[in-house]
Amino acid sequence: MHDEAASIRFGMALTSERLLREHETIRAVVAIYCRDKHGGADGLCAECADLLSYATVRLERCRFQEKKPTCANCPVHCYQPARREKVKTMMRHAGPRMLRRHPVLTLRHWLDGLHSAPPVSAISGTKGQ
Ligand SMILES: [Zn+2]
Repeated sequence: MHDEAASIRFGMALTSERLLREHETIRAVVAIYCRDKHGGADGLCAECADLLSYATVRLERCRFQEKKPTCANCPVHCYQPARREKVKTMMRHAGPRMLRRHPVLTLRHWLDGLHSAPPVSAISGTKGQ
């Protein structure tokens, strides 16, 4: 399942700094989780690569784009419930480790978390789901 071409494609359609940062954060979370839980010392296992690919597509299609709130603050639940649970589990595991390994990214994620989402009705030209 995991191949180099797919890794390189990840995030190519992310157009704003906000979304690229969000992508970097989720990628770090998945990498920490996979290494600790699945022994993926070098790259992600197929399951985690698949989840990251799914998360990337959700980001690309996020209707808020550069105004995106953190996912925890978002009124739009665009993840499938099973995927959402999986990501929440990963974030719970990676959270304390993120602060140590990626302090700047973690701080910026906290700062992003201070902004609430703009009203969905105020977002025009949505990309659709
Ligand atoms: Zn894994």
